[in-house]
Amino acid sequence: MIFESLAEKLQDTFKKLRGHGRLSEDDVNTAMRDIRMALLEADVNFKVVKNFVAKIKERAIGANILESLTPAQAVIQIVNEELTQLMGGSVSRLTIAPNPPTIIMMAGLQGAGKTTSVGKLGTMLKKQGKRPLFVAADIYRPAAIKQLQVIGEQLDIPVFTMPEGTNPVTIADEAIKHALSHANDIVIIDTAGRLHINEELMQELKSIKSTVHPHEILLVVDAMTGQDAVNVAESFNKDLGLDGVVLTKMDGDARGGAALSVKAVTGCPIKFVGTGEKLEALEMFYPDRMASRILDMGDVLSLIEKAQETFDADEAKKMEKAFRKNQFTLDDFLDQMQQVKKLGSLDKILGMLPGMGGLKKKMGDIDMDLKNNKEIAHIEAIIRSMTPAERNNTKIINGSRRKRIASGSGTKVQDVNKLLKQFDEMKKMMKKMTNMKGKNGKSMMKG
Ligand code: GDP
Repeated sequence: MIFESLAEKLQDTFKKLRGHGRLSEDDVNTAMRDIRMALLEADVNFKVVKNFVAKIKERAIGANILESLTPAQAVIQIVNEELTQLMGGSVSRLTIAPNPPTIIMMAGLQGAGKTTSVGKLGTMLKKQGKRPLFVAADIYRPAAIKQLQVIGEQLDIPVFTMPEGTNPVTIADEAIKHALSHANDIVIIDTAGRLHINEELMQELKSIKSTVHPHEILLVVDAMTGQDAVNVAESFNKDLGLDGVVLTKMDGDARGGAALSVKAVTGCPIKFVGTGEKLEALEMFYPDRMASRILDMGDVLSLIEKAQETFDADEAKKMEKAFRKNQFTLDDFLDQMQQVKKLGSLDKILGMLPGMGGLKKKMGDIDMDLKNNKEIAHIEAIIRSMTPAERNNTKIINGSRRKRIASGSGTKVQDVNKLLKQFDEMKKMMKKMTNMKGKNGKSMMKG
């Protein structure tokens, strides 16, 4: 998980502080040293670390935390605010041109995930109702053109190509004309990469830039390369000028050094992060939410957004109605489980809930995969072995019915009992929630 080890170390530091009640100056100094070590081990640029810790210390002294009744909380708050600032303060959105098409130029070294990110960005923009056009300008690797075509086909997004031997600048220029005449409002240019930065690559990118005048130049870098990614971003920004960075492979980067250093070192904001190989695995980069995740304060906003994106709106409405009328049946429960399964992995969800970092570790070998989860499969099997009447009214499920259901679902009577008990408690909870009145007199369920 992203920032896993940093999160763990910072939380240990705060735990120590909490244990102290009132803090001495020594406690604060020790905490600062721990934070410094934790950041260095996360591969954050050492200059960035130095400034960061100095700022925290200055603010901690200024805020008189030694006098505060909850000094540990005060330190956490300061660290949270400064981490957010370090990563850019607020979210940096894509520039959308007033007159279409918006031209986005994607650059990056080979293997960073550039072509994949073109596909991911296209997916995201298409979901927002845009009509993107992909441009295959990586002419040195025929495989790259094919790769983009395959992605385009998958997403039903057109890919602009030209015959072999055409200059990338001409390709980009012609692509814009094509977009204008085909009502594509976003053009995403997949430029060529190289193994290392060299003059030839920079010249080519500069020529494309001066010909098509992109609204956004995004550099794609691999988070797993840590400070190398930051150095690459610095060079590209100096030579080419960047509007933002796409940080890929965050799913494989437990340290997080690049995410924490890019903005501070280059001045360029991270706009997106790649969190997996799938074409949906792109997220906007919210510094405040990231900081909360690092401090295990949770990222409930992202979780809600994910749920809203994933859940079927009609299903959700139906479910809410059943809740409110207190007619929630085992059939509804089964439907609800199908929705939850779509969220994918429990691992990701827990990471977004406040204070769950520790719990996740304790859970150890629990099955994180929601789609193929054994416990969920058991529950489904039990419910499916019931008759419609039983699902509608669990009160009729007596001893002999329980036995029949258990043998029908390949489970034990205890499993059936457990499920029925859980379902009863759930209904009780729901009743409480629906009866609770919000401030404005409306039921809480109505939002
Ligand atoms: P390019 O040479 O920069 O165009 O790189 P590609 O787009 O071909 O990506 C290189 C490899 O990285 C491919 O195997 C991708 O599936 C993988 N990749 C790209 N982005 C991500 C990401 O966010 N997470 C993971 N785990 N893999 C990624």
